[in-house]
Amino acid sequence: MRKRHTSIAGSVEIIRTGTDAIHTSLPSTLEDGGTRPNACGPLNIEQHEMVRQKIRAMLAAKPFMQIPEMTRAVSRVIGENASIRSRAARLQILADKCVDALTPYSACRPGCTHCCHFAVAICATEAEALAKASGRTIASVPVRELSSVESAISGGRQPPCPFLADGRCSVYAVRPMSCRLHHSLDATPTQCDVDLPPEQSHVPKYQMKPLELGYLSLMLNQVWGDIREFFPQNETIQIGRSA
Ligand code: SF4
Repeated sequence: MRKRHTSIAGSVEIIRTGTDAIHTSLPSTLEDGGTRPNACGPLNIEQHEMVRQKIRAMLAAKPFMQIPEMTRAVSRVIGENASIRSRAARLQILADKCVDALTPYSACRPGCTHCCHFAVAICATEAEALAKASGRTIASVPVRELSSVESAISGGRQPPCPFLADGRCSVYAVRPMSCRLHHSLDATPTQCDVDLPPEQSHVPKYQMKPLELGYLSLMLNQVWGDIREFFPQNETIQIGRSA
């Protein structure tokens, strides 16, 4: 995959933003199953130890963040006799709970908008929720094989997300899964800066593959695209495509 670069070391996932930034792991996880080998080089020793200490502390405080526990929780939701929308909403709530567990250790701060300048992959159901919350119309987005979505979306610095207003997310309650799961366990948000060259940008994350893959399994047959494709700034096209 050419636009998002990850390495997995235990429960630490490193994403490389820089000129290749893309705000999703959904298509790539189909291919690598969360086991992609180290593709962007390790953190330095101090960073690595800091991140490991954070994860140890977080797991001690929040045992449900252990991957087997998370896998069981996701499986329970996936197996429910409920609509896709309902189960997807349950997974979003679970994602929020997981990211809340990471918040004390995260570099993410109100007013930081680095990740709102990444490419942000969303599906049609997420677009509909955004349209309902914002009153905006959904543009027609081409049907693409899921495996080709990531390569169809531009990497590097993007125009601000259409829902970014005064440095804040104006649709926070219904923000897409990609946004919910993004975080950095670094000391500062600096590494998320999309203007950093990829080789200098190593954003350490806690890998939450059960959530990503579970959500993807529900949304597999949907139309996917960048959030700016669904909501172009000029809003000239008004044909929504349902899931
Ligand atoms: S939906 Fe909100 S959090 Fe996600 S990229 Fe847009 S402004 Fe940022």
